[in-house]
This record gives sequence, structure tokens and C-alpha cells, in this order.
Amino acid sequence: MKTKRCTKCKKIKLLKYFGKNKVANDGFRCSCKDCMSVYQKDYSIRKKKGKFTRRQIPVVNFGRKLISMKRILEKQLVNVNKLIELEKDQPG
Ligand SMILES: [Zn+2]
Repeated sequence: MKTKRCTKCKKIKLLKYFGKNKVANDGFRCSCKDCMSVYQKDYSIRKKKGKFTRRQIPVVNFGRKLISMKRILEKQLVNVNKLIELEKDQPG
């Protein structure tokens, strides 16, 4: 039986412990099934966590809106200041 070294756990295991991968040169995945299952667990946990971060997005968007509003207000303030200066310059 052929063996292959897992790139994740660095253990040399029989090829039957590796998942198949058509794209790979030897036809098998670079990490063993054990590591893949751990990775997939991690991924599903991350996915679940992603749902929590998605809830936080509206807050972030609101913050961005505030920033853009602030910029608009600042621009308007500059314009008002310019108008005041122009009025001051005009005689009478
Ligand atoms: Zn492994």
C-alpha cells in the first residue's frame, strides 16, 4: 500500500486515509481525512460565527452612514463659512 505524508499533522499515513482530489498530482488531498474533518468542523464553526458578525453589519453600516453624513455636514459648513466670508467682503 502506498503512503502519503499529511501536510497538516505531518504524519505518514496510508493513502486510504486521504480523501480523493482530482486536481492534485497524485489524485489525493494533501491533508488526511482526520485533518479534513477537523478543518470542516472549524469551517462550520466559523460559518456559525459569521452569522453573528452579519448581525453586526447594520451597526457598521450605520457608522459609515454617520461618517458620510459628517463629511456632508463638514462640506456644508465649509460652504456656509465661505458664504459668510463673501458677505463680509461685500461692502454695505
Ligand atoms: Zn493529517
